[in-house]
Amino acid sequence: MNAARHDVPEPDAFTRPYWEAAAGGRLLIRRCAACGRAHHYPREFCPYCWSEDVTWEEASGRAVLYTWSTVHRNDLPPFGERTPYVAAVVDLAEGPRMMTEIVHCADGDLRAGMALRVAYRDGKPVFEPGD
Ligand SMILES: [Zn+2]
Repeated sequence: MNAARHDVPEPDAFTRPYWEAAAGGRLLIRRCAACGRAHHYPREFCPYCWSEDVTWEEASGRAVLYTWSTVHRNDLPPFGERTPYVAAVVDLAEGPRMMTEIVHCADGDLRAGMALRVAYRDGKPVFEPGD
């Protein structure tokens, strides 16, 4: 456990499959068999109908940009040395809205609704312009 970093996930037994898949370049979401809706971040029960009949599913990795903010200052290591970076909320093709970071895109090129695809940095999902 490295207490000095704030960007390293701490998987538990429930979220470990998510982080292991991400390390292998796959984005997992959770889908409810009772109501059919997908959600993210992963929960053990469906946030829409409270069913526990929820399983992992591999997402397409396609998304569109919902909103974003360029971060110029963050005192939590290691984010300070990454500024400026683009913190964003994206809508996955499967429906869930996800907090993430946009990479490989100049500030001026960011547009609401632009197509994105998942990329991975140090085993964590981020998004870049896609088609
Ligand atoms: Zn449900």
